[in-house]
Amino acid sequence: MKNNVIILGSTGSIGVNTLEVLSIHKELFEVFALAANSSVDSLLEQCKKFKPKYAHINKEEDAKFLTTSLKKFKIKTEILFGKDTLNKLVSLEEVDTVVCAISGSAGLESSLNAVQSGKKILLANKESLVMCGSLFMDLAEEYNSIILPVDSEHNALHQCFASNSTKSIEKIILTASGGPFLESNINELKNVTPEQALNHPTWSMGKKISIDSATMMNKGLEIIEAMYLFKLEISQIDTLIHPQSLIHSMVCYKDGSVIMQASKNDMKIPISYCLGWPKRISSGIEPIDLTKQSSLNFFEVSKDKFPCFYLAKQVGAEGESFPTAMNAANEIAVQAFLEKKIKFTDIFKIIFEVLEKHHKKKLSSVEDVYEVDKKSRENAIKQIKKIN
Ligand code: NAD
Ligand code: MG
Repeated sequence: MKNNVIILGSTGSIGVNTLEVLSIHKELFEVFALAANSSVDSLLEQCKKFKPKYAHINKEEDAKFLTTSLKKFKIKTEILFGKDTLNKLVSLEEVDTVVCAISGSAGLESSLNAVQSGKKILLANKESLVMCGSLFMDLAEEYNSIILPVDSEHNALHQCFASNSTKSIEKIILTASGGPFLESNINELKNVTPEQALNHPTWSMGKKISIDSATMMNKGLEIIEAMYLFKLEISQIDTLIHPQSLIHSMVCYKDGSVIMQASKNDMKIPISYCLGWPKRISSGIEPIDLTKQSSLNFFEVSKDKFPCFYLAKQVGAEGESFPTAMNAANEIAVQAFLEKKIKFTDIFKIIFEVLEKHHKKKLSSVEDVYEVDKKSRENAIKQIKKIN
């Protein structure tokens, strides 16, 4: 029996990479359903190529366009739209694997739905864990849902843990490329443009995560992601900048051993690890040729240049509703920067101000999470208005 896969966010960077891996393993996997927000042309092309049973798009008019277009090509994919329909689609019994690759908080609802349907989940949407990590992991346990991390660092750690109990871990070290501004002078940062910030030196990704990488908030989100995913204390999670992006993370054990995972910086590798798990399947990517690698460097994250990273560490240590509030403020600030409403360095200021006013709250339900998310977004918008 083939494994039925649904990709949420199929037209994005992770979605497209997943489809590339699936296309070399047609005997193992069926592209059962695809879902996207508004990239109707890309979704149409994907339907023509992969002929899924279902495709989902948010707006009704896009769904109508897709239905009419596919008829012309005699493709029988059923086109669906609307939030409830997406949730129903994810929880269908025929679905085995759900790739959660929607970007930002928009991915939370469908990830939660996949967890509560007991599916095998390939989790790229780190925001689901940042926003509601404890609840998310508790639900995964309750519903026997397997969570496999696609994020390359966490995927590397999952590979390093393979034959060891997480109890004997001393600490883990996440690596970070340092983003496009690693070598920039700190005084230049306030004038950088979205185009410069989107130009990541070693990874090609969606816009939100690219800006998060430039501020290094991405690494902050990943520390929180790792804390919940692997049930570790923040004090057990270190970060090293490693500009070559070749070692994707490492685990330090009690006995002094350090296990690292190395590969080319291509997301098809963590994606195929998760798809094949517990077996290994081909990713279509060659192993690294170490003879061609001149040097590997590792160093600490600069406090002055990357304040978002250190703020996220504090937020992780605070826990409860703080990560949810930070995630919301960050999303609003990143969007405002992309729209050229604020400067790059204002991203930190806005998040900091929102967190200063935030009152810590226990998150007992998903409703609590959405409430903190909403309030923090409103506060971030107020801060942006103050700046302008
Ligand atoms: P992207 O912007 O390239 O793609 C996002 C996808 O989500 C698109 O298909 C879009 O149509 C869909 N989408 C957005 N809003 C939606 C909504 N409201 N409803 C339904 N679909 C919606 O993003 P990406 O770079 O592929 O990142 C996706 C997730 O994976 C993010 O959470 C990111 O942090 C994480 N991630 C990405 C990478 C990477 O290399 N790109 C690496 C690690 C983790
Ligand atoms: Mg990552």
